[in-house]
Amino acid sequence: MANKSFKYVIVGGGVSAGYAAREFAKQGVQPGELAIISKEGVAPYERPALSKAYLFPEGAARLPGFHTCVGSGGERLLPEWYTEKGINLILNTEIVKADLASKTLTSAAGETFTYKFLIIATGSTTLKLTDFGVEGASAKNILYLRDIDDADKLVEAIKAKKNGTAVVVGGGYIGLELSAVLKINNFDVKMVYPEPWCMPRLFTAGIAAFYEGYYEKKGVSIIKGTVASGFTSNDNGEVKEVKLKDGRVLEADIVVVGVGGRPLINLFKGQVEEEKGGIKTDASFKTSVPDVYAVGDVATFPMKLYGDIRRVEHVDHSRKSAEQAVKALFASQQGKEIEAYDYLPYFYSRSFDLSWQFYGDNVGETVIFGDHDPSSAKPKFGSYWIKEGKVVGAFLEGGAPEENQAIAKVAKLQPLASSLDALAKEGLEFASKI
Ligand code: FAD
Repeated sequence: MANKSFKYVIVGGGVSAGYAAREFAKQGVQPGELAIISKEGVAPYERPALSKAYLFPEGAARLPGFHTCVGSGGERLLPEWYTEKGINLILNTEIVKADLASKTLTSAAGETFTYKFLIIATGSTTLKLTDFGVEGASAKNILYLRDIDDADKLVEAIKAKKNGTAVVVGGGYIGLELSAVLKINNFDVKMVYPEPWCMPRLFTAGIAAFYEGYYEKKGVSIIKGTVASGFTSNDNGEVKEVKLKDGRVLEADIVVVGVGGRPLINLFKGQVEEEKGGIKTDASFKTSVPDVYAVGDVATFPMKLYGDIRRVEHVDHSRKSAEQAVKALFASQQGKEIEAYDYLPYFYSRSFDLSWQFYGDNVGETVIFGDHDPSSAKPKFGSYWIKEGKVVGAFLEGGAPEENQAIAKVAKLQPLASSLDALAKEGLEFASKI
């Protein structure tokens, strides 16, 4: 098998890879110097579209519409762009072995790739119910969503089971977005999760009560405090029923599972330092191995704002970390350093007519403000997180762009709050004054 050699290789062709490619071009990468090796069959795209507009019954998003970097208002990098820049997009190619000592990657087909500099951008994979040995979990139409192939399977199932019954397992943002989009596709939707409320890692009970109320109003049934413990299937091997641990049984034509992910770092185990489930990097996304960088979901990096180290699985960080790594890589070749990554956590989600943004850290005490009645014609509300008297996190549903910018500023500057009561009364005004 042939060996191909590049100055720079990015392993993984997702969001980070797309934003890294754009930064490589800005930094003046020469034709033939950079290769992106991806398991997927398409050029980098904005992954969040898959659980949103990609599944709409009408006017669905399709490639090439959402290639990176349109998600952040940037240029859409079509496959031709990569060709023009002399960037090698090596698609449908899974790397199965990485030897960082000899700077060699090996694909499933046995091809080898050598590099001078490597950027690891392999992202995450979804946890599967089969991994936990759940009875009957390998039945047809029990689906997951991580990449475009998964999304296409879901689109096919939605068509095949038109107006059917769907059970969504998991109460995170993927579960919430998928429940909404299945409802919009006219499915009878039930959501199941073990926690006392949805999105418990971020949402307070007050925030969650709004979304749960809104979903119920839209006709999504929510079943909390139990888990899917098994599945039965029909003669075609298609899922037919979901058995819950509390003894209930739900009919299902489709089951969609969103129970979390795991960063894909196995290829590099034992070769690079790890921390908090990811690959440990510095503030330029350099790993413990010379000439090797890690970005996006797989990187555990110093969070300057909070003085600790974290791994972040959000699209905004995948874009920014990729840009930071490429800038640092070019600077280091000129013996220079760039400013440390100074990230303000930012996460968003959209479903039905709703849209929220969160900035900062969700620690400490909380207040809720605004109209959080799920029956309101135009609900708009938010929350602040207060730690040691300072406002460190801010959430806003239904905010206008300048209001979202205002809450971002609050999370960044961490102003003092006079009292929780005053903050709750002032609400968005507090942010607008900062
Ligand atoms: P990815 O974008 O996952 O890219 C990794 C790439 O590496 C993939 O192409 C993969 O196939 C490839 N790869 C992996 N292993 C190999 C290998 N061995 N060989 C070759 N290629 C390999 N975040 C938000 O902030 N807001 C949202 O609304 C939101 N919605 C989302 C919706 C969905 C359905 C999903 C799955 C994620 C969503 N996210 C959202 C999270 C966000 O998309 C990720 O944080 C982001 O994509 C991470 O970028 P990445 O480049 O690290 O990984």
